[in-house]
Amino acid sequence: MDQFAVAGSELLINGQPLSRIAARVGSTPFYAVDRSLLDRRVAELRAALPQGLKLHYAMKANPMPAVVAHMARLLDGIDVASAGELKVALDAGADPHEVSFAGPGKRDPELLQAVAAGVLVNVESARELAVLQRAAEQLGLPARVALRVNPDFELKGSGMKMGGGPKQFGVDVEQVPAVLDEMRARGLQFEGFHLFAGSQNLKPESICEAQQKSYELALRLSAQTPQPIRFLNLGGGFGIPYFPGEQRLDLGPIGANLAALQERARRELPEAELVIELGRYLVGEAGVYVTRVVDKKVSRGQTYLVCDGGLNHHLSVSGNFGQVIRKNYPVTIGNRQGGPAELVSAVGPLCTPLDLLADKMALPQAEIGDLVVIFQSGAYGASASPAAFLGHPAVTEVLV
Ligand SMILES: *Cc1c(COP(=O)(O)O)cnc(C)c1O
Repeated sequence: MDQFAVAGSELLINGQPLSRIAARVGSTPFYAVDRSLLDRRVAELRAALPQGLKLHYAMKANPMPAVVAHMARLLDGIDVASAGELKVALDAGADPHEVSFAGPGKRDPELLQAVAAGVLVNVESARELAVLQRAAEQLGLPARVALRVNPDFELKGSGMKMGGGPKQFGVDVEQVPAVLDEMRARGLQFEGFHLFAGSQNLKPESICEAQQKSYELALRLSAQTPQPIRFLNLGGGFGIPYFPGEQRLDLGPIGANLAALQERARRELPEAELVIELGRYLVGEAGVYVTRVVDKKVSRGQTYLVCDGGLNHHLSVSGNFGQVIRKNYPVTIGNRQGGPAELVSAVGPLCTPLDLLADKMALPQAEIGDLVVIFQSGAYGASASPAAFLGHPAVTEVLV
């Protein structure tokens, strides 16, 4: 993958040879995230998107504390989805005023923690309003709330749809006026709306359409809000290319569309800041998963590289994290760059045929001890994988 340079036979992560990084980590498997690529991605986004647009990091994509701390410095806010993530975000130095908390099934103690921390809660049900009112009274602090709306449209062409139709996320737009009335009656501090329609989208026109419709929806609802809209979170869903034939997302039209929306907001919702929240797009391409070849064997003509890690650390490379059909991620042998190729399958150490890292791919010829590298692995890696399955050692994560 062209975001990583090569020197001799070695892939470089932020300028350092992979074998040297493996030596300093001390054990395989590990994830390595390249901080210069995080910086570059944020700079590209800032250049393409209008000034004043708030950029948030949805930390569920990669909750590694060092990554969250880096992103907290680079971006305008952090979006958390549990009290556990809230702790990591606050530890990382995120400004509580710029932290928002979304997710279905927020437990009563988590909502109390959120009020105590002073973060914005993206409310997803009427029940949360009652719990927040009690928490605010108990603590003598305001409960800052935004309403997450389940819109009446979808993000077309998304890998995962998280809005439109019946959903466990947010409040259906039809029910929003009643929930806003209840918010007013309970004396909660309304700050805005949150819309998140879907994930992993590579079609700029679909993203623009969803953002446009989200804006219109919020504008329609703005007449009924207890206080003016201060935050309007239009979601994200920006995808990254994983498979042959997929193109990098063109930010041009998205930036132009957001600039137009921001211009309208200046007139129509003068107190509102527009926010987008991104996870995968910020971190996905900056990370690799590295696992060592433990065994190499041939079964009925097919060569297998058996590695020391697999779906226990990286469920999505095995095709079992929301994919319909399994396709190979980009893979290489990190210490055999430019070497002669060989057709192999790379598998993990688990006793299940699902534990597949690369299915019949032409990779540089590898030996036992070599380092298999899975690209596009900075998002939904370790924290999205069944680490305890089969009892192998945990994976290490480093920011390089
Ligand atoms: C998962 C999630 C995100 C991040 O999605 P990506 O596809 O990783 O950008 C953002 N917002 C909400 C509410 C989410 O649930």
